[in-house]
Amino acid sequence: MEQTFVILKPSTISRSLVGDVIERYQRKGLKIAGIKMMQLGEEILREHYAHLVDRPFFPLLVKSMTATPVIVMVLEGKDAVAVVRAMTGATNARNAVPGTIRGDFGMSGQENLVHASDSVENAKIEINRFFRPEEIFNYGLVTVPAIYSPDEMD
Ligand code: UDP
Ligand code: MG
Repeated sequence: MEQTFVILKPSTISRSLVGDVIERYQRKGLKIAGIKMMQLGEEILREHYAHLVDRPFFPLLVKSMTATPVIVMVLEGKDAVAVVRAMTGATNARNAVPGTIRGDFGMSGQENLVHASDSVENAKIEINRFFRPEEIFNYGLVTVPAIYSPDEMD
């Protein structure tokens, strides 16, 4: 099944919302294929946010993303990239629709709790950037037959 990449940002860690955010993914029916805590640095952030390095707010973004360790996750499920992106909500949490993670927990364009991959192609790149192959686990989830119909489980 499809995999996507998520970061629980320092805003989630600092506000003790780790459990609330992970609970949402699990309740949705997504499988945790990989999860770990790590301290990000400027080098990996210049790669991960390459599309933003020339923006005036980039130094603030680096400061924010390195303020505490983060939790990185690989989530798995049918159409996981689009599903998790929809659960994330708009970049500026003040504009994010209630019911999304940013819409329910955030008030900031920067301190917006989570990162989620925006395409299947970028999900693969981001998973490889943050995880070694042996840190991603292939295991069966007994709830799967209750989450999907048989023709959705390929
Ligand atoms: N960001 C910001 N100000 C902006 C745009 C983005 O601080 O005007 C930060 C914000 O934390 C955002 C991250 O940079 O989540 C990555 O930006 P992107 O446009 O990729 O948004 P996302 O994919 O996270 O919704
Ligand atoms: Mg993005």
